[in-house]
Amino acid sequence: MPQNSTPPRFHVLAKPSGATCNLACSYCFFLDKELLYPSSNFRMPEETLEAYIKQLIESHRSSEVTVAWQGGEPTLMGVEFYRKAIEYQEKYRKPGMTFENTMQTNGTLLDDEWCEFFKANNFLIGLSLDGPRHLHDIHRVDKGGAPSFDKVMRGLRLLQKHGVEYNILVTVNRITGDYPTEIYRFLRDEVGTSWIQFIPVIERMNPGGLNLVQEGEQVSSRSVRPEQFGRFLIQVFDEWVYNDVGSVYVQTFEAALRNWLNMPSSGMCVFEKTCGYGLALEHNGDLYSCDHFVEPNYLLGNIKQEHMLELIGSDTQFKFGQDKYDSLPNYCLECPVLFACNGECPKNRFIKTPDGEPGLNYLCAGYKAFFQRVDEPMKIMAMLLRSNRPASDVMRILTSTQEEVIRAFKNTKSEEHCPCGSGLFFRQCHGWKHSTRRQRRKAASIGQPRPPARAVMPK
Ligand code: SF4
Ligand code: SF4
Repeated sequence: MPQNSTPPRFHVLAKPSGATCNLACSYCFFLDKELLYPSSNFRMPEETLEAYIKQLIESHRSSEVTVAWQGGEPTLMGVEFYRKAIEYQEKYRKPGMTFENTMQTNGTLLDDEWCEFFKANNFLIGLSLDGPRHLHDIHRVDKGGAPSFDKVMRGLRLLQKHGVEYNILVTVNRITGDYPTEIYRFLRDEVGTSWIQFIPVIERMNPGGLNLVQEGEQVSSRSVRPEQFGRFLIQVFDEWVYNDVGSVYVQTFEAALRNWLNMPSSGMCVFEKTCGYGLALEHNGDLYSCDHFVEPNYLLGNIKQEHMLELIGSDTQFKFGQDKYDSLPNYCLECPVLFACNGECPKNRFIKTPDGEPGLNYLCAGYKAFFQRVDEPMKIMAMLLRSNRPASDVMRILTSTQEEVIRAFKNTKSEEHCPCGSGLFFRQCHGWKHSTRRQRRKAASIGQPRPPARAVMPK
């Protein structure tokens, strides 16, 4: 086995129940993946589970192994499946090896038994919650269109009651993208979380409305707009950098700071120079290059026929990861924030640069604005850390200039550039206001079951 050609660090997201889910969130890019396995029951057989755990352990050169469970909805497998997984981890454990099991769940099926199991086995749970009820329930509904907020909050409180480690994963779509501060404050103050991930919803629409294979430039009407996502991150950042540095961890901000510190890894694959270290394992043992490329063209093989080590160390997978850098358009190569953005995820690189070169990231305008806005505070935090001072001192430093900033906002006209440094017009950034038309549209869509997505060209 080519042990030396496997990357020193990698992780596999296992999907033991495939794409199946008890909810039917209208923006979920994974639900259409059921079509890849037309006659499957979408349950990982025990021999595949054993082969997976055994090979995962054999493939690792480090003593720390992450075992990541995802879906679809992984709790559909039932808790006994995961008890078996822990048994196999013990059976094949190498001396000195430690495991971290993680699970991404919608939380609606959790009960005391699940939470006792998570606590006893040190699981880290990622819970999907899109904000307060009126925002979460717009898209996160069950197959009959019923809202899921109450069930998710019940699951959350159970995790908290049992002392299970968790973080919150928030998807940002075209409606919730207009409520950054409200969502952030809800998570911090009412949910009581200290770890948050924001994931942009970008649904590419193929002819026929499915997104089984990613093609073309059209995105659904649910997809967040590029500038909107930039403004979302900027406004959350503003709330965080004046109040919560050191007490609330926002994954995007942590990754940015690591890049400003010039650390070897940002901790988020989308902001790395190359990728290919985060693979996806389907319920039947099929291994794909990445969770975002569970598509026939990115199938590396099946672990029951070929050892995971061979597949991860293959030339195909190496090229997949290298292509992230090699396919950057010149526009990115000349970009002042390339060191922080790295062109983001290749799955989102489907628009053209201003001079017509293909392969620019759909979110470029938003990321550029965000990284430009955070440049100064990031430099201050990096300087503090390099001087062995806590990054949280940035709050005191910035507060002394806060009044000047507020005065600058008051005196800026909508068509002028925003004084925050994002490079956006003031009306697109800190001068942006909710429109009543948008509010009405949002209210009308609450509780609607899986509305068909309208395809729109990216702006
Ligand atoms: S394709 Fe995107 S999500 Fe997948 S590993 Fe690369 S950057 Fe990460
Ligand atoms: S901000 Fe835009 S131009 Fe700059 S690296 Fe990112 S995607 Fe490329």
